[in-house]
Amino acid sequence: MNSDSVAMTDLSGKMHKLETVCIFGTGDFGRSLGLRLLQSGYSVVYGSRAPKNSLLLPKGSKVMTHAAAACDAHVVFVAVQREHYGFLSSLASDLEGKVLVDVSNNLKRGLYPESNAEYLSRLVPGVTVVKAFNTISAWALQSGGLDANRQVLICGDCADAKQQVVDIAQSLGFTALDRGSLRAAAELEDLPLQLFPLWRLPLNIAICLTAFIFFYALTRDVIYERVTNGKDIAFRIMISLANKAFPIVSLVMLSLCYLPGALAGFLQLYNGTKYHRFPDWLDHWMLCRKQLGLLALAFGFLHVLYTLVIPIRYYVRYRINVYTISLVKDNNTYEFDNTAAWRYDSYYSMGILGFGLFVLLGITSLPSVSNSLNWREFCFVQSKLGYITLLLCTAHTFLYGWDRFLKPASYRWWMPPAYMLSLVVPCVVLILKLILITPCVDRNVTRIRQGWERQGKISANGRDTKTNHPLIA
Ligand code: NAP
Repeated sequence: MNSDSVAMTDLSGKMHKLETVCIFGTGDFGRSLGLRLLQSGYSVVYGSRAPKNSLLLPKGSKVMTHAAAACDAHVVFVAVQREHYGFLSSLASDLEGKVLVDVSNNLKRGLYPESNAEYLSRLVPGVTVVKAFNTISAWALQSGGLDANRQVLICGDCADAKQQVVDIAQSLGFTALDRGSLRAAAELEDLPLQLFPLWRLPLNIAICLTAFIFFYALTRDVIYERVTNGKDIAFRIMISLANKAFPIVSLVMLSLCYLPGALAGFLQLYNGTKYHRFPDWLDHWMLCRKQLGLLALAFGFLHVLYTLVIPIRYYVRYRINVYTISLVKDNNTYEFDNTAAWRYDSYYSMGILGFGLFVLLGITSLPSVSNSLNWREFCFVQSKLGYITLLLCTAHTFLYGWDRFLKPASYRWWMPPAYMLSLVVPCVVLILKLILITPCVDRNVTRIRQGWERQGKISANGRDTKTNHPLIA
């Protein structure tokens, strides 16, 4: 069957009926799947425990007993919860030679020792089981994948059977992705139970960092002032402290996007080969870089918004007025400081340029944009422009602090200003990158990344690269 022929109409305007598909179960999923199949030109027959009571089924479908429905179709979708699969063993002779599509999910991980699809295959010998559609919701089926995930993940042991399910998925307007043999079913069944797996680490880092910086700044600024001078400046929590924490979290998280790449470069240099697996924590960290970057961008946005309200803040206007009045009263003038003018303009300029490039990095990480770039363009933006962004944002922070680190008054209760803490990770990343791009180191890293291995190192195939002898007997 060719997906192009689906939903075609002949010269008389009639829709061609494709093969008949059977669905066991008239619940939410079965009904939505049946409707979508009918809309795509298939004939649909339902197998139900109570055919006479099955209402609300899509118009044009038939409903009968499981055994009768199975006789009408070669492909049978089992849209029934796993705990009710028992009835299928009594239908073994009716289902002999058919393709059974297991669409089931579980409520919890590790609920059963084997995947639902493998269980089904054991329960009904003589059928070919294909796991598919479990990552597609009933809602996505109804909307034809327009508002939701369009990818159907498929696995199974028989290529022909999988192809039949791929054809159906494509006819329904979905894309199909073959995930291998039926042993992959457990993994597919776990997917709908995951909740933003790649966002968990970045979110935890963001929350912990924000909390730490906030309480650090609270102690240094508000509590210190209260204890030593008896002044209550707790109102600063709302904007000043927030606007201290957000840029710091943003800068540290941006540098954390680039730290694993630099560490990986040093690991490859140390191993003398690129064929050694990275430790799991580094692998996971590298996979989360996009999420780290997007969260860093979100915190950068907050910093920009908080900065924009500074001129209209009551406290700021009050301080300016008091200062100006005191100058007038004392008949004093406000001398123009050329160094300060340079410093503030450079500080703002670095911030604006850094933020501009940061937004560009965020835009190019969107799938619709990154798909239009080739690998070299993508690497150029994410790596080269990414490091320039980090450099500009670090310079912005250095200019903000200026010579404050030289003044003893800045170290309240021996605690350095929060901006100094924020510079540690970016400086480490930039220094590591600087070492990696020096010509002699860069040459070695490039050779290793092109497949060269240092003599005497153990290669991926377990052989000593010097002697080419197997290291394990
Ligand atoms: P449901 O609304 O509870 O419907 C399940 C159907 O199974 C019932 O309508 C019933 O149909 C049949 N059934 C119930 N008890 C039975 C028993 N003891 N013996 C035989 N048949 C029985 O469930 P659903 O939401 O449609 O989900 C069906 C399957 O699709 C599940 O395995 C689920 O994990 C999977 N799935 C669902 C979604 C979704 O969005 N809902 C998404 C992905 C995968 P009859 O009364 O006609 O026999």
